[in-house]
Amino acid sequence: MNEVILNVDVSPFVDALAAVVGEANVLTQLDDVAAYVQDWTSAYHSSALAVVRPKTTSEVSKIVGLCSAENIAIVPQGGRTGLCGGGVPINGQPSVVVSLTRMNAVRSFDVAGRTVVAEAGTVLEALHAEAENNDLIFPLVFGAKGSCTIGGNLATNAGGSNVLRYGNARELCLGVEAVMPDGTVINTMTGLRKDNTGYDLKDLLIGAEGTLGIITAAVFKLFPMPTARSTAFLSVGELDDAITVLNRLQDHTGGCVEAFEFMPKPAVDVICKVFPDIRTPLDTPAENGILVEVASSRPHDAKVMEDGSICLELEVMELLSVLMEEGVVLDAMLAQSEQQRADLWKMRESILEAITEAGPAYHLDISLPLSQIACFVGEMDAKMAKLGFQPLTVGHLGDGNLHYALSAAEGRDWEELPLDTAKEMVFTLLTELNGSFSAEHGIGQSKLDVMRKLKEATQIAVMRQIKTVLDPKNIMNPGKLIPTE
Ligand SMILES: Cc1cc2nc3c(=O)[nH]c(=O)nc-3n(C[C@H](O)[C@H](O)[C@H](O)COP(=O)(O)OP(=O)(O)OC[C@H]3O[C@@H](n4cnc5c(N)ncnc54)[C@H](O)[C@@H]3O)c2cc1C
Repeated sequence: MNEVILNVDVSPFVDALAAVVGEANVLTQLDDVAAYVQDWTSAYHSSALAVVRPKTTSEVSKIVGLCSAENIAIVPQGGRTGLCGGGVPINGQPSVVVSLTRMNAVRSFDVAGRTVVAEAGTVLEALHAEAENNDLIFPLVFGAKGSCTIGGNLATNAGGSNVLRYGNARELCLGVEAVMPDGTVINTMTGLRKDNTGYDLKDLLIGAEGTLGIITAAVFKLFPMPTARSTAFLSVGELDDAITVLNRLQDHTGGCVEAFEFMPKPAVDVICKVFPDIRTPLDTPAENGILVEVASSRPHDAKVMEDGSICLELEVMELLSVLMEEGVVLDAMLAQSEQQRADLWKMRESILEAITEAGPAYHLDISLPLSQIACFVGEMDAKMAKLGFQPLTVGHLGDGNLHYALSAAEGRDWEELPLDTAKEMVFTLLTELNGSFSAEHGIGQSKLDVMRKLKEATQIAVMRQIKTVLDPKNIMNPGKLIPTE
């Protein structure tokens, strides 16, 4: 039995869980539980009375009912790719992990209405494949797509590379089915795009990081499959130039920019060092690199031209030539094949693993108004260098989101660097520039201190009131998202 210390015999409780989901789906042995109580970053290790793996919403409801009766904490869990320690129990509190990964059915697909209903444990990439089989796309995309689940995506209101065009998980979702902390099941899955019938409970659960209930299924919007794409890696002189490129591309293509990712040289260097099969796309490495993707489903854009290229590619090339003449773009490489496009995306999506592999780093997930990004990066990079840090930045620049990681500069010892001073500097400037300290990864356990310090106290108080009303026993993912008083 697991190491959680209880002064009572938990076997009857475990037996009751097994009666709901079957013995094979209740894990209690340390070795079996180990993987479920450690988060992706390895920063959080804990323990659990049991890991339960339900197959149906009714089973989830019964599990929650059993935990509620015994005042045992419940930790909803998907693919465990969260980066803030939200999906693992907190230490010292008897908890049950409810892993949704067996609830992975696509329940229905409405091709005409362009919606899909999928269960919470569906892996994001599996939903991509399902949509593509129907000549449509589900546009939420990021590096963890092969492991993260749509339940986790909603619980964290995940973003990724395509937010610029399609919005984040919240904007893609038309309704959820969820089990509330007392075991009640709510179903807001009408799939309607207009439904003004009171408080939007779906929006309360999205981004709640499992603190208000367990999402068991959701209905999502789908979009036309692009038939033409143009993917390029650009070198721009200054960050402000990148914003000019973004806006000119949007104007030129009628808003077809799907991704606009900032990849400056230090980050690309780390990727190439850790993954030697990945090479920098430009002969002269870009100080300020941008991975840009434009896509369209308009037949006109997919027309093949005399030289074999497609119309959209030509349009993008035309604009890039103008921008190069103007000195806004310094160099550009356009993907000439699906393989080259895949290579560019592999480079982008390897960054987190590369930084993690390269050594200790402190990861910030921040957002800023587009007009303030250049100011933030210029000022902060200089300050961090003085303190002995090497900032490794990448970002979904198109939507103002930077992943700003602080690593040790060459020859500096991480343990001796003034991390608290650095964090203070970052948060002070962020506040001055109207930025956010958590753009897309959420709060979990790791950002509770910043939340307490920087989030408006009155907003935290309202969050506490909501939590208390819906979860009076504080059993639904306790110790996450809302700082203690
Ligand atoms: C390489 C890499 C790249 C990443 N890139 C991005 C990115 O670009 N954008 C981005 O937004 N995130 C990114 N992430 C973070 C992470 O992938 C997302 O937060 C993801 O949405 C989490 O999904 P999950 O299924 O793994 O959830 P988990 O990690 O299992 O859980 C995350 C949180 O959601 C809660 N939860 C999980 N399932 C449910 C449910 N069914 N009901 C209620 N609560 C639930 C958990 O309790 C926890 O609080 C990245 C992570 C990695 C490892």
